Amino acid sequence: MSNSFDVIIIGEGIAGLTAAGLLAKKGIRAASFEQQLFGGLILNVNELDPAPAGGEAGGAAFASEMIGANADAGVTSIQEPVSAVAAAEGGFTVKTETGSYHARQVIVASGAKLKMLGVPGEAEFEGRGVSKCADCDGPMFQNETVAVVGGGDSALQEANVLTHYCAKVLLLHRGSAFRAQPRFVEQVQANAKIELRFGSRVEAILGGQMVEKILVKRTAGSEELAVAGVFAYIGLEPNAAFVPDTVERDATGRLLTDVTLETALPGLWAIGAVRSGCGGSLEDAMRDAKQAAEAVAARLK
Ligand code: NAP
Repeated sequence: MSNSFDVIIIGEGIAGLTAAGLLAKKGIRAASFEQQLFGGLILNVNELDPAPAGGEAGGAAFASEMIGANADAGVTSIQEPVSAVAAAEGGFTVKTETGSYHARQVIVASGAKLKMLGVPGEAEFEGRGVSKCADCDGPMFQNETVAVVGGGDSALQEANVLTHYCAKVLLLHRGSAFRAQPRFVEQVQANAKIELRFGSRVEAILGGQMVEKILVKRTAGSEELAVAGVFAYIGLEPNAAFVPDTVERDATGRLLTDVTLETALPGLWAIGAVRSGCGGSLEDAMRDAKQAAEAVAARLK
C-alpha cells in the first residue's frame, strides 16, 4: 500500500465517512483514518432521530452502509490513531504510532467525545453502573432506578431510551430549563417513568461492588438518591490533540475555520463536531463534509 494520498481524512464518524466517499467518487485518492471503530458518536444510537434521509435508522447500520460504499468507491481505510499532523513539502505529514503518511490536503473530522462529570466514583464505577451508552447498557438496568445527568438533546433522548428498560429515570439538570429541542422536552415531560429534578448537581457516585447511590447538591441542601446506574450526557469535548497548536481553537477547544471550513493552515480543513460552530446534528456534520469535499476537490485541480 502506498503511504501517499491526495487527501487524508482523519476520523471515520459520519462527517469523515461522507467526505471520504464524496472525494473518492470524484477519482481522488483518499484515505480515512480511525482510532476506534468507524461510526463515531452515532455508533451507540439504536434509533437516529431524525432518521437520515434514504439511510438506515440505526447508527451502526448507517455507518456500516457508508464504510462499505466508501470501500467500493476506493477509499483506503486505515485503523490507526493519528498522533500528529504537520505541514510538509507539497502538503502534510500525518503520523501514527506505527507509520508516516503524506497527503496534499487533510480534512480533520475527528469528532468529539462525551465529557466526564469529574466527580468521585465516576471512574471507579465505570462498567459497574456508570455508563455512557443507554442503548447498549440499558438492558442491564431492567426494573431499576437510574440517573441521567444533563439538559441537552443527548440527555433527554437517552433518558427516554432508558425508560424502555428501567422502572424509573431521574433526570438531573443543574439549571432550571432544558436547552434540548422542544420535541425532546415534550417527550420527557410526557413520560411517566421520568422524574425531572432541576437545580441538581451530582457530587459523588457511591456504592460497593456496583453503584448504589449518588450524592446530589440541590439549591436547597444536599441529598442522597438510590440509583443502580448513572448516565452523564453533559456535552462533548473535541478530539483535536494531534492538530498543530498553530491552528486556533475556540474556548471549548474546537478548531476555528473560515467560512469555507479551511483552518488558518492552508490545506488543513475541519468539519463536524471538532469544528467551532458546527451545529451538532447528523445533517450539520454531513453538510460540512459536502462543503469541504467540494472545496478540497477544487483545490486539487
Ligand atoms: P450539550 O447540548 O452541550 O448539553 C450539555 C448539557 O449538559 C447542558 O444542559 C449543560 O447544562 C449540561 N452540563 C454541562 N456541563 C455540566 C456539568 N459539569 N455538570 C452538569 N451538567 C452539565 O450536549 P449534548 O446534549 O451532548 O449535545 C451535543 C450536540 O449534539 C448538540 O449540538 C446537540 O444538539 C447534538 N445532538 C443532537 C441530537 C439529535 O438531533 N437527535 C441528539 C443528541 C445530540 P447547561 O444547559 O446549564 O449549560
